[in-house]
Amino acid sequence: AKQTGKNKLITFHPLPTQQRFASQIQMENDLRKAITENQLLLYYQPRLELSTGQISCLEALVRWNHPLHGMIAPADFIPLAEESGLILPLGEWVLREACLQKARWLAENKLDYQVAVNISPCQFQDEDFADKAIHIIQQTGINPSYLEFEITESSIMQNMEKTIAVLDKLCSKGISISIDDFGIGYSSLNYLKEFPIHCLKIDRSFVKNIQNNSNDWAITNAIIHLGHALNIQVVAEGVEDVGQLDILKETTCTTIQGFLLSPPISAYEIEQTFYMNDNRPVMIS
Ligand code: C2E
Ligand code: MG
Ligand code: MG
Ligand code: MG
Repeated sequence: AKQTGKNKLITFHPLPTQQRFASQIQMENDLRKAITENQLLLYYQPRLELSTGQISCLEALVRWNHPLHGMIAPADFIPLAEESGLILPLGEWVLREACLQKARWLAENKLDYQVAVNISPCQFQDEDFADKAIHIIQQTGINPSYLEFEITESSIMQNMEKTIAVLDKLCSKGISISIDDFGIGYSSLNYLKEFPIHCLKIDRSFVKNIQNNSNDWAITNAIIHLGHALNIQVVAEGVEDVGQLDILKETTCTTIQGFLLSPPISAYEIEQTFYMNDNRPVMIS
């Protein structure tokens, strides 16, 4: 399960994660250690602007490189982190590391992209979330406007007044907000007019069958036009092939993310792949 040289796709350990740990407690203890002992790492997945063929944003996605069990996917440890409360220190680590990587790229005059960081509902509900986040960003010295927070519909629907206060605070510092996995949560469209939201990321389940399912096409098309009308950016997630891309272009989609462009890759691989050619990925030119 190690990453080999130029091989872009990270391969996770084949055994189910639960079976690799003697118990839930063991896994929780290991995860606690992982946060302080540098076993976590961030991969980055680019977002592409179709009009310019340029990358606009890199989404940070956490991985756990366990010393014995190899690489573990976030789906296998984020739920445990949420249950155990470890999501708070983990989330702080992710935000700090994403800011530090952005600072390195800025210092080297490389890669002038925004960085998107996923925020779990538990983190978002934390009383001090906004203050802590702003503090971390300030410690790293980067301009908050380089950052986007990806939150889910469930994060923002719990307490509208509190949500507005948190989002306003973040936005006043220049941080952008996107709604991740848009369309699959329980939410009202009302919040799109109440909350300062910059971007909707259409859940990849709608994009998957956009070529042969007319309902998926209709929903995707409607979200894209809703975005245009409300002046909110829309990103299609999970774009895997050219057929999907062609249909998305017809629906006037402006921005895509997915394996077609690139899977999540290490910071080093990002530099190797996207620093060249005026930041223009080969597939579009
Ligand atoms: P997400 O934020 O919706 O991220 C997109 C996920 O879809 C990533 O999985 C990515 O590798 C995958 N993906 C991207 N393009 C494609 C595609 O074309 N096809 C397919 N089949 N999949 C694609 P990953 O990295 O395993 O992350 C899974 C989820 O774990 C994320 O979903 C996010 O909810 C959570 N997550 C990851 N990193 C963090 C983190 O640092 N903090 C928090 N709170 N959650 C995280
Ligand atoms: Mg995301
Ligand atoms: Mg998503
Ligand atoms: Mg998702």
